[in-house]
Amino acid sequence: MPLLGLGPGELEAWAQAQGQPSFRGRQLHEWIYGRGARGLEEISVLPKAWRDRLAQDAPPGGDWIGRSRELHRSLARDGTLKLLLATADGLSLETVGIPTRERLTVCVSSQVGCPMACRFCATGKGGLQRSLEPHEILDQVLSIREAMERRPSHVVFMGMGEPLLNIDAVLATIDSLGRDLGLSQRRITLSTVGVPRALPRLAEKALARLGRAQFTLAVSLHAPDQALREELIPTARAYPLDALLADCRRYVAVTGRRVSFEYILLGGVNDHPRQAERLADRLRGFQSHVNLIPYNPIEDGDFRRPSPQRVEAFREALERRRVAVSVRASRGLDQDAACGQLRRRLTAA
Ligand code: SAH
Repeated sequence: MPLLGLGPGELEAWAQAQGQPSFRGRQLHEWIYGRGARGLEEISVLPKAWRDRLAQDAPPGGDWIGRSRELHRSLARDGTLKLLLATADGLSLETVGIPTRERLTVCVSSQVGCPMACRFCATGKGGLQRSLEPHEILDQVLSIREAMERRPSHVVFMGMGEPLLNIDAVLATIDSLGRDLGLSQRRITLSTVGVPRALPRLAEKALARLGRAQFTLAVSLHAPDQALREELIPTARAYPLDALLADCRRYVAVTGRRVSFEYILLGGVNDHPRQAERLADRLRGFQSHVNLIPYNPIEDGDFRRPSPQRVEAFREALERRRVAVSVRASRGLDQDAACGQLRRRLTAA
């Protein structure tokens, strides 16, 4: 088991099991999380004899810490940095650092590929390879910190994959982000397109594992009615919009946290002001926030991005019905902004 993801107590126990005094565990913690060490050989405060022994006993195919390798980086004019990383077993995944003056948000992947196959999503075109383990998600945050020489302030699970198909690893990651990297739950957003029966489990497991669920839950809605939602999101057939919204209401009741809704805007498909009105009707009485995401065109995509006027009209229609709404600024458009695009382009090449 990789050391990345272990807390101070677990690292102390690991050091002791190796016949070392427990303070070595605290040194490991400082170097792995504080200084971003990629290998134990870098940790100069550890005794040379121990490091040599560990180098000989290294787990097959990998190292002790469990960092990924950088395969490629791509920097957009607006400062958004996208990294293509390789896992120990040679799979590639994307992670993105999105800077503003006050924030550095890391958009992490929770799976390699994704089985949900949403029609507008580049990742969904390739199917699922496998779910990521906690160290492979934490590595993305450390890799962005290292590449951008800045401490991430926020983490969003909006990269490749469906986090609710990997709940245990996602919660272990959130746990470690707080405990080991000082990134509180309030700075973390988990985005899901909806998986039957998963929201009650998420709430229950978050309360059990983290003591509370204070991260933001964002739900990808994308349509005001079941028929259109099914067309865009094939998996929605097994999880009707009414059931999804009912689960969201229960999630709010159990966790005391608001849910936010994401709505991708596809020109001529779901961006009519009347659709905004229907959406507002669906969300009536719901303490929620709607985040509009103008579609980022992908290769062989069948959709188009609506004009700024059209986006504005949709936003106004929601506002008139007193729905709290914001439009997500598109970042990194010159560098394959949509999730999964960089990987698709590079693996096709
Ligand atoms: N599986 C999760 C999280 C990953 S995607 C989910 O679906 O929520 C994060 C967000 O990006 C989702 O709202 C997704 O619908 C959206 N997205 C995917 N492809 C996009 C594209 N080409 N343009 C704009 N948003 C996109």
